[in-house]
Amino acid sequence: MILTYWNFHVRFGTTLISESPSFSAVTEEFTRKKAKLLELGEIFIPREVDMPCFASLSKAGPDSGRGAHAFGFGDSRVKLVVSKDPDARLRLARDPAGYIILLEGKKFVGDVQILPLAAHAPNQAFLNLCPECSMGCAFCSMPRPEGAGSYLSPERALRLVSVASKYPDFSAVAITSGIPGTVREANAKMAEAVKAVRGQYPSVPIGVEAYFDGTAEISLFREAGVTEMKINIETWPEERFRKICPDRDFQATLKALERAVTVFGWGRVTSNMIVGLGETDGEVAEALDTLASMGVVPNVRGIRIGPGNSAKLEKALGKTPERVGAERLLALGEMHRNILERNNLDTGNFETMCFSCRCCDIVPMADI
Ligand code: SF4
Ligand code: SF4
Repeated sequence: MILTYWNFHVRFGTTLISESPSFSAVTEEFTRKKAKLLELGEIFIPREVDMPCFASLSKAGPDSGRGAHAFGFGDSRVKLVVSKDPDARLRLARDPAGYIILLEGKKFVGDVQILPLAAHAPNQAFLNLCPECSMGCAFCSMPRPEGAGSYLSPERALRLVSVASKYPDFSAVAITSGIPGTVREANAKMAEAVKAVRGQYPSVPIGVEAYFDGTAEISLFREAGVTEMKINIETWPEERFRKICPDRDFQATLKALERAVTVFGWGRVTSNMIVGLGETDGEVAEALDTLASMGVVPNVRGIRIGPGNSAKLEKALGKTPERVGAERLLALGEMHRNILERNNLDTGNFETMCFSCRCCDIVPMADI
């Protein structure tokens, strides 16, 4: 459905970006609704609304530590944190045809499906091997380790994948981990888990989301059976990265991304860029242009704020940021898609992790 047009544009490098809260000419109604749901992020589910499955308690990802449900409508999917506040702006309800989402008491989305979460995501087993991390990134809700940190064993990982594989939409495995000790140890644990999964599931796509402080370990993941790699740049430029991720290395991350494209191939490596941390649209454009020109498919994610990260964000930024509004998510989505197209990159080629899940972001090629 065609909606409205861009008002005006400004050229940043080779990228056209919007300077106004305008909308894409091709943005569809469901995508606009998804953007609004992502902006609000939380939904109240009254007791009387029967749910077909339990909320998922994520140990990684934007809603780490909080219960969430995934919802499907039209071609869109969205994951929303379950709010305890009966006055939350979003509320789930039922009408004679099924589930509906109300916005401030009025029907906002109809014909909503509740998507069972295989393990964190509707279509895949996305495992976090260790829910503690010593890196202290300001946006991340993972707690610091109290001791040495303990990892899910390969056997336990396999059992979780086996349970998830019974779900009808199961199609992939993804593995990540907090870093309670050294980066090398966390990556070795992930590679062990990958090998175990690959041994039992020879053809399932496997994605890994990891941090690297060098490039030597990247090919080990390929050898272990990983098909897609995610190495997050998180924010842009380097100066902001140093404030937000003080224990990580921006240049090492860029080098790891470059190496990962050599190992996994053009368009088979992805990287999260979080927005809402005080960056300008021009900085987002510069980040996406840089990554895409390296063959990396960036993912743009609006900051989520909750009890696990608000104090850390306030300390790093000097104030607690606000969630990113729907209009900016849509404008950035349009810019993001243009950049990917110019670099012959396609989110649709990914079989694992966030581009195949599509719950937390406006995904170019799928949503916009
Ligand atoms: S490296 Fe940063 S973002 Fe990743 S789990 Fe650790 S604290 Fe969180
Ligand atoms: S989009 Fe990514 S972070 Fe969000 S639920 Fe899906 S896999 Fe998890």
